[in-house]
Amino acid sequence: MADDDNPAPETGNRKLQVANSRPDDSGRGIARMSRATMGALGLTEGDVVEITGKRMTAARAVLPYSEDEGLEILRIDGLQRANAGIGSGDFVEVRKAESKPAQRVVFAPAVENLRLQGSGEALKRSFGMRPLTAGDTVATAGQQRIDQSNMPPQLRQMLNAPAFALQEIRLIVVSTVPAKGIVHIDENTEVELRSEYQAPQDQRRADVTYDDIGGLGATIDQVREMVELPLRYPELFQRLGVDPPKGVLLHGPPGTGKTRLARAVANESDASFFLINGPEIMGSAYGESEKRLREIFDEAAKSSPSIIFIDEIDSIAPKRGQVQGEAEKRLVAQLLTLMDGLEARQNTVIIAATNRPEAIDEALRRPGRFDREIVIGVPDERGRREILGIHTRGMPLGDKVDLAELARQTYGFVGADLGALAREAAIEAVRRIMPRLNLEERTIPPEVLDTLSVTREDFQEAIKR
Ligand code: ADP
Repeated sequence: MADDDNPAPETGNRKLQVANSRPDDSGRGIARMSRATMGALGLTEGDVVEITGKRMTAARAVLPYSEDEGLEILRIDGLQRANAGIGSGDFVEVRKAESKPAQRVVFAPAVENLRLQGSGEALKRSFGMRPLTAGDTVATAGQQRIDQSNMPPQLRQMLNAPAFALQEIRLIVVSTVPAKGIVHIDENTEVELRSEYQAPQDQRRADVTYDDIGGLGATIDQVREMVELPLRYPELFQRLGVDPPKGVLLHGPPGTGKTRLARAVANESDASFFLINGPEIMGSAYGESEKRLREIFDEAAKSSPSIIFIDEIDSIAPKRGQVQGEAEKRLVAQLLTLMDGLEARQNTVIIAATNRPEAIDEALRRPGRFDREIVIGVPDERGRREILGIHTRGMPLGDKVDLAELARQTYGFVGADLGALAREAAIEAVRRIMPRLNLEERTIPPEVLDTLSVTREDFQEAIKR
């Protein structure tokens, strides 16, 4: 497979630019790279690679998507990017590595207020063959939907690990024995699941990433260009003498992912995130709303790079002369003053969302304010399929579940509806096993947990509601 024109040393490393993985690949612990890169690094598919950015993490090498063939990029998911301490577009060093069988691995939930009942065994099955390093954040795997026909067995085994629960659960690898380097779990490994929460090393980045947004591929690219680039490389824009946008208006129906997208951009740009809810801030007492707005702008400037997200901006800034009362007038004036006062070097972007762009005060849309617009539409069938993939990521799905069929059946559903559908289906599955649970015991026997899966019927029941 080695590229004859490019005889790199067998044990070499490569600097590769990081790109997002597709939602379906996410949470699997794989890294896609071109055949040429694999050849140069002496890799065959399924081999372990060490990926070093600000930190080191590991993955198994997988062949690229056909359109990436020949590109010097490494596709990894948002958790892996957080584990390497970098974002999309950054460079990492990749080399071939070995993983050692671990004597012991300790996990803890990476999500607060999550009560996990510890079955080290289930985790063992979930993460078998997966290369791990202490400090990594990992997600329990769900159903596998990538083409595995030509993959070597160790990779297939890792990808087909059974799920741990009905939901994707994020865990921290608290420690490993041996402590340093890359390990994997095998039949002799002792696996412990702690119940206390442990914060991920790079919490912000591990929270919501671009992989958690379905059906908005082109929109994500637009937002990255408009918001992420200026936030991450302000010097580039200064050098070119162009002012980065201060305000971006997202418009589209409720539940299509606008908030999630804003949060993901903040995480992926390693920026602080401030959320202002339009109706909520409007409800404050006389003078309070403006004060609150000033405070948020202040804080954002102090912790820049920052993104301020204003949800339902139409409620703060309805068209003048329409229903605008005194309170709105003062608040709009305050918002305009704050935005006009923002300087490029403060490195703060305001993203506002509305489902009624025609209803907001025109003054807000003048140059230097919300002068860029991005439309977020209702997802089409392909988008719905992708969103369903995201919301069923951690679920053990029955054999007959066909996400493509579900995508066809859910015309008109937005992301929030599809998320609710997946949750409803999971609840159906739980209802089915309820009679087998001993509610006194409060723990679910492993045999029951093992048979728990969300079936095609569960989804059909959920659609009816
Ligand atoms: P909006 O801000 O457009 O009203 P949100 O971003 O708050 O919508 O979405 C609400 C929830 O719906 C999200 O937390 C997520 O679970 C789900 N959701 C919405 N859009 C998407 C999407 N494009 N991909 C995945 N999930 C989505």
